[in-house]
Amino acid sequence: MKSIGLRTLLFAVIVLLSIAVWSRSRPPKVLIVSHGLVVTMDGNRTIYDDGAVAISGDTILAVGPRSRITAQYAASQTIDAKGKLVLPGFINGHTHVPMTLLRGLHDDVTLDDWLRKYIFPAEAKNVTEDFVRWGTRLAAAEQIRSGITTFADMYYFEDAVADETKAAGMRGVLGETWIDFPAPDNNNTAAMSAYTEKFLKKWQGDPLIHAAVAPHSIYTCSRKTLEDSSTLARKYHAPILIHVAEMKKELDDSQKQNGMSPVQYLDKVGVLGPDVVAAHCIFVDEADRNTLAQRQVGCVHNPSSNMMLASGVSPVPEMRAVGVAVGLGTDGPAGSNNDLDLMEEIDLAAKLAKITKMDPLALNAKAVVEMATIDGARALHLEKEIGSLEAGKKADLILISLDEPNAVPMYDVYAQLAYALKASDVQTVVIGGRVVMRDRTLLTVKEDAAITKAKEYKKSIAASLGMQ
Ligand SMILES: [Zn+2]
Repeated sequence: MKSIGLRTLLFAVIVLLSIAVWSRSRPPKVLIVSHGLVVTMDGNRTIYDDGAVAISGDTILAVGPRSRITAQYAASQTIDAKGKLVLPGFINGHTHVPMTLLRGLHDDVTLDDWLRKYIFPAEAKNVTEDFVRWGTRLAAAEQIRSGITTFADMYYFEDAVADETKAAGMRGVLGETWIDFPAPDNNNTAAMSAYTEKFLKKWQGDPLIHAAVAPHSIYTCSRKTLEDSSTLARKYHAPILIHVAEMKKELDDSQKQNGMSPVQYLDKVGVLGPDVVAAHCIFVDEADRNTLAQRQVGCVHNPSSNMMLASGVSPVPEMRAVGVAVGLGTDGPAGSNNDLDLMEEIDLAAKLAKITKMDPLALNAKAVVEMATIDGARALHLEKEIGSLEAGKKADLILISLDEPNAVPMYDVYAQLAYALKASDVQTVVIGGRVVMRDRTLLTVKEDAAITKAKEYKKSIAASLGMQ
């Protein structure tokens, strides 16, 4: 009995050792996206006509000509990108995703009327955690369909936004809003602070979610709120998301009350720094632009929103010229857009700059594609992680069909992306190595349920406001 016991033990040890050796020598699972026109957006803006991307886990292993990549790596899974463009996923640098459920509530009014008469009452009566979850699910479906892989958000119940973003497999820089009036989730700044601290702690180290702090703006936050919120963010090395210089009234009021522009005021109170993402930056003069560059603030341009609300035009070429990282955002999706289609913003950013300066050279196709990808990543301070297809970065990429009537012929890939291709041409989306849309089928979001729920919410929101 003794010898059998020893033999059994020896046998078990040998089996365990062989399993350990086998699992260590087993090659890692590699997903290869091959045969596509790969536009890397790397430092040299390298393009491979017949390229491939090798992915292991959530990270890019290598990018290059198909022959080299397929010789180097054995694929355990392949995505055929023949006839397709392979591009880093688009980065939506500024939005408020749960507001999808308020889409089209009331448009063609002034910003002031829209906020005071419609949005603030609608939010006070309707915004709950359930509202935020369904709005985020709907937005995830819309964003993935248009090739967005990362978005920056500012809203309430941001912890629920984070849950739903992670469930959808999307990457998010998600900011809990601080504002000097009772918000739908927190009644006062002490509650906002407690909620935000818990939120920041909870998501530390998450591969997809970057929890952030979002003081709304200088026109809705006192100096103390601005200081307290940025101090809390810095304690946790979290990004700070804020609306900056988005209205003429904000500039005029700041000059009257603070004796300086919004940018100079934010600098004076210690908010500006290399962790700040400033949405809009419309009313920024030369001194402001230099300050933004010195402080390494990222800016996000929202052309649809700025046009729809007649806010003004951000001096994007001038900001780029002094080295400010400028990304692109949809803003909205209610009242100031009203959709989450970043390809539309790519097109409009170029055209708005051209018409404003009466100069077709003002902002070119390549520049606006950079703003949607690598410069968007720089604006969110995530350029080491995303924004281009390079070894070591996160595997966030999209496949766009080049066989549609609006996609042929193609002479210049950047011009095609900026002015001809549409969100509906996006076929397949991979985020962190996970396929979240394959051939236009969403794999991580229950789209039908989100659409049904949005229609139900419309009825209850309209009723709460005494609308038909
Ligand atoms: Zn906004």
